Amino acid sequence: MEEALKQVFVPFVATPGGEKTQLGVFSTEQDAWDVMRAFLAKAGATDVVSGSIVAWEIDYVGEEGSLELAAFDRSNCPVCDEMSFWVEGDQEKARCYFPRCGAWIEQNAYDPSRWDCGWPAANWNKRAEDYEQAYKGLVAMRAQSTSAGMTSRMASREAWLDEKDRERRTIQQNKFDAASNEMTE
Ligand SMILES: [Zn+2]
Repeated sequence: MEEALKQVFVPFVATPGGEKTQLGVFSTEQDAWDVMRAFLAKAGATDVVSGSIVAWEIDYVGEEGSLELAAFDRSNCPVCDEMSFWVEGDQEKARCYFPRCGAWIEQNAYDPSRWDCGWPAANWNKRAEDYEQAYKGLVAMRAQSTSAGMTSRMASREAWLDEKDRERRTIQQNKFDAASNEMTE
């Protein structure tokens, strides 16, 4: 026999004006998280600035039938500068959902005194003492990549566009060279 449903999980998102959009109602917390993450991954084109996952007790009488399990706030990514950096709770975790970036900050699962941050696009990881320091770690990664000219890694949109621009100019230059060679020959 299946266990009776006691709780449902509701992910929702909100705009700066406080207008809320519910993303569904789920019988497991995992499903609510999956739907929330899928939304955040595509939130770039929306004006959503916050989100939350709420558990609701079923057949509950009274005011305290719901509990917020997680809250998300949108901000600027310290690495790629896109508005795709989602901070969880009171700076408990953060992740950039911009596909070519993916920068993240997280408390170490085994050692609570340790924080980790990373930038998958550049294959970099760093450890830190707290969230603040991990955030600075990401800023430093960006600075380092800029000075190292890591454009070929497509680390950020800016870098990627720069790279494309350079390729285009090189092609044009080559065409120009070829044309002028023909003229002088
Ligand atoms: Zn980013």
